[in-house]
Amino acid sequence: MQDYKAPADLLKDRIILVTGAGDGIGRCAAKTYAAHGATVILLGRTISKLESVYDEIEAAGHPQPAIVPMNLEGAAVKDYEEMAMTIEESFGQVDGILHNAGLLGQRTPIELYDPEIWEQVMRVNVTAPFLLSRALIPAMRKSDDASIVFVSSSVGRKARAYWGAYSVSKFALEGLSQLLADELDDERHNVRVNSLNPGATRTNMRAHAYPAENPDSNPTPEDIMPMFLYLMGPDSHGVTGQQLDAR
Ligand code: NDP
Repeated sequence: MQDYKAPADLLKDRIILVTGAGDGIGRCAAKTYAAHGATVILLGRTISKLESVYDEIEAAGHPQPAIVPMNLEGAAVKDYEEMAMTIEESFGQVDGILHNAGLLGQRTPIELYDPEIWEQVMRVNVTAPFLLSRALIPAMRKSDDASIVFVSSSVGRKARAYWGAYSVSKFALEGLSQLLADELDDERHNVRVNSLNPGATRTNMRAHAYPAENPDSNPTPEDIMPMFLYLMGPDSHGVTGQQLDAR
């Protein structure tokens, strides 16, 4: 499915929330989903970046998106609940969530790892996807064909030295993905849940993680969109509880 060819109207009339929609992979996914007919809810912490994605989607004539400014590090349980209520009032249901926002944290041995940075990374990479899923599951149950995608990493499947909280947080995210897939696997099969590892991709995060690497040696976010489309659209109906790779 890495070479999946999506029809232009794949996501017509679907409501899809993308976290970390202002930059990198999330920005590209939000624009790609909109280009395939989805109404995209752009969630992120830097409003100017979200506004520029909004403007690009509008200028391209795709369905009008919505902006949800939210810092996933500091948001409280009630912020998620209020946001879910507003989304349900505005859109009625949610057909997709791309849990994409992520924090790299430090690349350093555990014995030197800053406990505060550990907490920050765990909040953004694990607790936030938990709270967001928890708040939005009722709105997803209203969809006939909903998809939750957790953006993971190779170090969330096999740990590597010096990846610290980032690696541990992605292991936890894989666990949340499997657990939720099992819980939502009822006779309607209307909410599927999978994890997706993008692989090395040309973004700010990758440049920070590998400062000595030539960024041009990696695929762009656009290059990895086929799997992001496949998992959000109807062709992946019934695919759930899987650990998938974008390439
Ligand atoms: P970027 O750093 O380019 O983008 C991350 C996005 O997450 C940004 O939009 C950022 O917002 C947002 N974000 C970070 N912290 C918060 C927060 N506290 N609240 C709200 N939003 C936040 O990273 P990538 O696009 O590379 O990464 C996207 C996902 O892909 C991540 O989950 C990452 O772990 C995963 N991944 C990436 C790989 C790669 O090679 N690029 C490889 C494997 C996995 P802002 O712009 O405001 O900072």
